Amino acid sequence: MAKKNIELVLSPPEPHFVGDGFRVHNYIPGGYRADMERMNPFIMLDYGAKFNFPPSDRPLGVGVHPHRGFETVTIAYKGRIAHHDSAGNSGEIGEGDVQWMTAASGILHKEYHEKEFSKKGGEMQMVQLWVNLPAQFKMSKPKYQSLANDQISKFELVSDGGIVEIIAGEYKGQKGSASTFSPVNLLNLKLNKNGKADFSFPAQYNTALLVLEGKIMVNGTEEVPPDHFAIFQNEGDDFEIQTDNGAIVLIMSAETLNETIAAHGPFVMNTRQEILQAFDDFHKGKFGFLAD
Ligand code: MN
Repeated sequence: MAKKNIELVLSPPEPHFVGDGFRVHNYIPGGYRADMERMNPFIMLDYGAKFNFPPSDRPLGVGVHPHRGFETVTIAYKGRIAHHDSAGNSGEIGEGDVQWMTAASGILHKEYHEKEFSKKGGEMQMVQLWVNLPAQFKMSKPKYQSLANDQISKFELVSDGGIVEIIAGEYKGQKGSASTFSPVNLLNLKLNKNGKADFSFPAQYNTALLVLEGKIMVNGTEEVPPDHFAIFQNEGDDFEIQTDNGAIVLIMSAETLNETIAAHGPFVMNTRQEILQAFDDFHKGKFGFLAD
């Protein structure tokens, strides 16, 4: 098998706030080398690098907003997030937990700091990744997968190297916890000191990684520092990650959806007509109701 090498390493773009509670570096869509077409089905990646929030009596966050045509995957690394949606789902995402929400035909959503975390304040580190849906599923019923850390499939690396949390897809034949609508691998690699792990994905899959903790070396030659995002070439299958002092790395690899993308804010469809329809449905209250 040929090696899969890194095409591009991106340093964190200037952060901005989503609402008043999520301070994020937006990696996707970021210029033509990380745009929706290139990274599809990974169409948006916001990375909330470690940031200390002061105590607040009013939970900070982002108010009611719609989504249609894709899935939002929220991973908390530090801190605690809470959410509500118009389908009646609500819950909390604590450290190591994952919320996989399939907005599909449409949902109203709000996301904010969990109440007790807000009161005390503290460090937050999180990821929100949007996974595009194949056209045939864009208007299907919303769905919701809440994955507490202890429910997430884990693969133990040899020689006490660490673990691979298989959020979705598979690793070394072991299945992930979340179900997906097209082939998507989402892995959380937690390496111990001097740990290493190897990965293999089909050459044409869009593949990237985000370093959350520590410094890693890819294929023994390319260094990726913490908070950086690396995109792999669509050639070769195999790569290896190693670390001296320990690392946490989010790895994503998925089959490209060969479908046109029409995106406007919180709606990602296939045609402009479908985007106009989404606005129309939203204004007519077809996404349901969610109180502020
Ligand atoms: Mn949302």
